[in-house]
Amino acid sequence: SALYKVDGWGAPYFAVNSSGNVAVRPHGAGTLAHQEIDLLKIVKKVSDPKSKGGLGLPLPLVIRLPDVLKNRLESLQAAFDFAIQSQDYENHYQGVYPVKCNQDRYVVEDIVKFGSPFRFGLEAGSKPELLLAMSCLCKGSPDSFLVCNGFKDVEYISLALIARKLALNTVIVLEQEEELDLVIELSRKLSIRPVIGLRAKLRTKHSGHFGSTSGEKGKFGLTTTQILRVVRKLEQVDMLDCLQLLHFHIGSQIPTTALLADGVSEAAQIYCELVRLGAHMQVLDIGGGLGIDYDGSKSTDSEISVSYGLEEYASAVVRAIRLVCDRRSVKHPIVCSESGRAIVSHHSILIFEAVSASVYDTPSMSPLGLQFFVETLSEEALADYKNLSAAAIKGESDTCLFYADQLKQRCIDQFKEGSLGMEQLAAVDGFCDFVYKVIGVSDSTRTYHVNLSVFTSIPDFWGIGQLFPIIPIHRLDQRPAVKGILSDLTCDSDGKIDKFIGGESTLPLHELEGGNGNNGGCGYYLGMFLGGAYEEALGGVHNLFGGPSVVRVSQSDGPHSFAVTRAMPGPCCSDVLRVMQHEPELMFEMLKHRAEEFGQEDDGMANAALAGGLAHYFHSMPYLVGSSCSLTAMNN
Ligand code: PLP
Repeated sequence: SALYKVDGWGAPYFAVNSSGNVAVRPHGAGTLAHQEIDLLKIVKKVSDPKSKGGLGLPLPLVIRLPDVLKNRLESLQAAFDFAIQSQDYENHYQGVYPVKCNQDRYVVEDIVKFGSPFRFGLEAGSKPELLLAMSCLCKGSPDSFLVCNGFKDVEYISLALIARKLALNTVIVLEQEEELDLVIELSRKLSIRPVIGLRAKLRTKHSGHFGSTSGEKGKFGLTTTQILRVVRKLEQVDMLDCLQLLHFHIGSQIPTTALLADGVSEAAQIYCELVRLGAHMQVLDIGGGLGIDYDGSKSTDSEISVSYGLEEYASAVVRAIRLVCDRRSVKHPIVCSESGRAIVSHHSILIFEAVSASVYDTPSMSPLGLQFFVETLSEEALADYKNLSAAAIKGESDTCLFYADQLKQRCIDQFKEGSLGMEQLAAVDGFCDFVYKVIGVSDSTRTYHVNLSVFTSIPDFWGIGQLFPIIPIHRLDQRPAVKGILSDLTCDSDGKIDKFIGGESTLPLHELEGGNGNNGGCGYYLGMFLGGAYEEALGGVHNLFGGPSVVRVSQSDGPHSFAVTRAMPGPCCSDVLRVMQHEPELMFEMLKHRAEEFGQEDDGMANAALAGGLAHYFHSMPYLVGSSCSLTAMNN
């Protein structure tokens, strides 16, 4: 547990149990000992067709934990309720979930259901997101906000107005000044009085990767001049009462509460100015940015860590708004936030399996081998070899390294010219590896091949270098003997994970024990944690690997027991082919005809079986399903 810093990034939801496996505490700090769920048991149950009630779902697998989602929502609400109460703030907190973080139907439906007692709403940033938010909120509280952000055209604004007509508490947030004319025109045309918000471009800027959203040159929002023009125009058309919400978003992963308070204070000033100018302001929407401590370091200078928790965040927000509003004698607004990462990150775990590992070849040199290649070396290479031997006798490791590298390069050149054969080149490699080992510079990092696509399942690692906690989910009571990196199934050299939390370039791993996994893999399972936000929504189909299988798992009665309430295999080959406009049915027909055509020369039965066999591939998963664990010999 200490090696993988589980207590740092995992608390209060993940811990290592007495069997050495990762256990989930679905109700966070309130979880009782008998409610803990062993993650390995879920994986076995879901993926092993032989286990009792086993589902035989292929890996990789996303395990969703609705109990965790509920706990996150309730904890966020409780943090704001506490801050409001303890600071005598005279209004309430009413958050929204930005569906872009994870648009999965069951995630959004769960959030609406769990958040309905405290009027938790949704935020949409495009027309399809608005459609899904509208239909999900039909089952929510009538007071829940439906915040419409993003770039808007006639259709988007019309749909948002229709949502209002359907008695959904919809706010159209202007991201660009031009949207105002459309809102005015369409609301008149449809005879629907809109509730309007505006997104302010704050001067407060956060410096990390995610801060490019903010500051005067940020991509989104209205400048001070534009805000004033919007107010004037609304006044002219007698619609200033429609302007009720002020929104800003200074970027995800806000590193400190000091920066947060700075941004919130600036926005609160704009809010008070809008009140002074006659708008019927009700809500201050502070956007997203509530951060996650991915490495558990609580550090302020790392983009993957934050130095505060939910309570400190809520307290800083409430204090900043109250201070400004009290000074300006303005009624405290409803506080709305659009936290995405902080709500959904913990509830989903990606499980994948090692399918093979490179073997570290212990270099061994026989005198014969040495003799064999020395004879064939060029004059320069021979000189290198002699210098290398002399340096080795004197124990001069830097000189050894210099001549070993030079010897190797000269031999590669000789091979390219054709004056050295493959056996000889291999002997040179072996000899140099032997020298590297003796002088202590050999790289013993091993590569574990995993049944996964980084591009599909961890796109932020590939795209922006974001790190997530990745650890074996079992054997944590055994000391890992290997330092490894993870290499995925894609034919792409970027499809590897070679940076880990804590700034490490390798991950401590256990030796593979052989092919006893559920799908023919090695039975060595790893989990990527805290990836519930953005990763599924952003992942692509590089190499036509689709999404993983998904299960929903709830804590149920009985000691350490759980119920799989939903199980979906990942997309099959036909599904991913369709994404790229291929037509699997036609493709199959084409291949079937081909089988029949060539079958005439062969025996008919075999070819019918061939066509049947082809059909199977269209329905199978793109990931490895029947691979057997192998230890691939590779020189590292
Ligand atoms: N609101 C807006 C407008 C955003 O752009 C984002 C994401 O960048 C969010 C909310 C969610 O932010 P976070 O996931 O940091 O809570």
